[in-house]
Amino acid sequence: MPELPEVETIRRDLGPLLVGRTIRCARIHPGAERLAVTDPPRAMEQALAGRRVEALDRHGKYLLAALDDGRTWVLHLRMTGSLVHTTADAPAHRFERARVDLDDGSSLRLNDMRKFGTWHLVDDPADAMPYCGPDALSEAFSVRWLRDALRRRRTSVKAVLLDQQVAAGVGNIYADEACWIAGIDPRTSASRIGPKRAERLHAAVRQTLEESLGDRGSSFSDYRDGLGAEGMHHVKVHVFRREGQPCGRCSRTILKARVAGRGTHFCPGCQRR
Ligand SMILES: [Zn+2]
Repeated sequence: MPELPEVETIRRDLGPLLVGRTIRCARIHPGAERLAVTDPPRAMEQALAGRRVEALDRHGKYLLAALDDGRTWVLHLRMTGSLVHTTADAPAHRFERARVDLDDGSSLRLNDMRKFGTWHLVDDPADAMPYCGPDALSEAFSVRWLRDALRRRRTSVKAVLLDQQVAAGVGNIYADEACWIAGIDPRTSASRIGPKRAERLHAAVRQTLEESLGDRGSSFSDYRDGLGAEGMHHVKVHVFRREGQPCGRCSRTILKARVAGRGTHFCPGCQRR
């Protein structure tokens, strides 16, 4: 699933191509009706047609396209979605679920094998993002915020990092990477993390997200940037999907376990409980 660095890369790619453009027509393909959450597919197509895109923002893993009628088109790519900017006459990808043609002859395509992606059309973007806390790269995601969240919860550190109410945009890849950078075992009870370790974990979250963003994200499976290319960060990760390989810090073998319901990768040598 695309996480914060991947969605932000898409936003940076698509922003200059979409902002100021008017939507000529939108089409949600047969079989992809669940994409449209707030309106029936035909109604959403009609509501998008003729609208100009005023801004393209992001919160966590959501893309927010502000439209000239004051509404916001909120897009979430979920498991396997990708958004690719191309020309209106480009052939459809095998898993194309929707297309949005623009007034300059270009076209935005949503490709999504698993079909879990969502579109909302809302007056207030918050309505499309329930249970979503501060973006993990925003000021609001502060050391104090993370420390308080850890102290309050009776779950693992990994579960706290995956909670979108705590750190919107962090998913399985960057939760594992942040724990390795901070030297914390992801299975540790959150409430046992003291102020020093909370500060280290906060810095680690920021570090892994920013490093991946610098590499245009990680392409472990379906992720593609706004122009259809892979990210470059997946070859640089420390633990994610590296089980059985040596840790780059202490050489112990990286393990994989199920934590917070997700496959979790960590080094038993240098990540402490
Ligand atoms: Zn290690």
